Amino acid sequence: MVMKVLGYAAHSAQEPLTPWSFERRNARPDDVVIDILYCGVCHSDIHNARNDWGGAIYPMVPGHEIIGRVASVGARVSRFKVGDAVGVGCMVDSCQHCKPCMRGLEQYCDEGSTYTYNAQDRHDKMQTYGGYSDTIVVADKFVLRVPDSIDLKGAAPLLCAGITTWSPLRRWNIGPSSRVAIVGLGGLGHMGIKLAKALGADVTLFSRSPGKEIDARRLGADRVVLSTDAEQMASASNQFDLIIDTVPIPHDINPYMSTLTLDGTLVMVGYLGPLDPMLNTIPMIMQRKSVAGSLIGGIAETQEMLDFCGEHGIASDVEMIPIQEINNAYERMLRSDVKYRFVIDMASLKA
Ligand code: NAP
Ligand code: ZN
Repeated sequence: MVMKVLGYAAHSAQEPLTPWSFERRNARPDDVVIDILYCGVCHSDIHNARNDWGGAIYPMVPGHEIIGRVASVGARVSRFKVGDAVGVGCMVDSCQHCKPCMRGLEQYCDEGSTYTYNAQDRHDKMQTYGGYSDTIVVADKFVLRVPDSIDLKGAAPLLCAGITTWSPLRRWNIGPSSRVAIVGLGGLGHMGIKLAKALGADVTLFSRSPGKEIDARRLGADRVVLSTDAEQMASASNQFDLIIDTVPIPHDINPYMSTLTLDGTLVMVGYLGPLDPMLNTIPMIMQRKSVAGSLIGGIAETQEMLDFCGEHGIASDVEMIPIQEINNAYERMLRSDVKYRFVIDMASLKA
């Protein structure tokens, strides 16, 4: 049995997204059916829709920063009831028995976690479709509770931009004595600043864009370093415990390595692929510095982040758009012309 859903889909890497009706499975006993209210627009949606990473399956309905209300629950679901405000991020399932899953790190599932879109359901092999749509069906283990105190529009980007920056901040034990830098002030970057600041860290933004200083300070940055200015880069040397690099394209990470302190770590979350220019090992060896990577975050950790945001009054800075504006929003994101996350108001789908 299937249900009819309306959404926006990419039909190839070259074409704009257009309205599309499709089918989702009816709820299984452990499923939650969610009426989608809002969906954030992640740079990964552009990479996926345009097949930057290969493996695109069309038609593709992107969207993995989903906020909605529970419309119905399966017979075995007790954690949620009709009307609850809930969120869904980048994953909707995983094997649930491998070592990473047992550790609550479903994003690193040995069998591969099931992504919210552009993947196959592990049970019925149906294609998964994301949040640029009016309804989604998700196993209750992968549904997040949204604290009442968070504005629902600003909560949507927490499901990817929020958790992707929260997870490395927690993994590297960031707290009041830490010095953190964020590279790139976009969707991920602005959440990285807010979350690092709320954890008590001293926060620096590296940006290639002049003119982001006032916003960065308002978001919580203690200083801004223009990464294109050699003098400013030199003045930032040897100080950071953790750098989270959110830049979506190949770029030289060597200049950032010299800004790490002894034992410091640069975590790549933005660009996926071989480094060019190559990484120089000298600073790594001479000062025991590391380069690491990090993928979103586990479900328990995502709930921890949402609860933390609820307690600290943190949400994303959003620009609301109707779904009809999605293609223009992609172009604007590619020009870094967004403050700091587009969120689709799904009521516009009916227009
Ligand atoms: P975004 O909103 O577009 O922000 C990217 C920022 O990177 C820009 O605002 C810009 O900041 C900087 N940048 C530097 N060079 C750029 C260039 N040539 N083009 C565009 N931006 C450039 O993107 P996002 O949604 O934060 O996503 C960032 C990356 O993280 C994407 O590649 C996305 O796929 C990836 N991602 C990874 C994970 C994960 O789990 N690891 C999760 C979500 C997203 P300045 O102007 O301040 O320099
Ligand atoms: Zn994302």
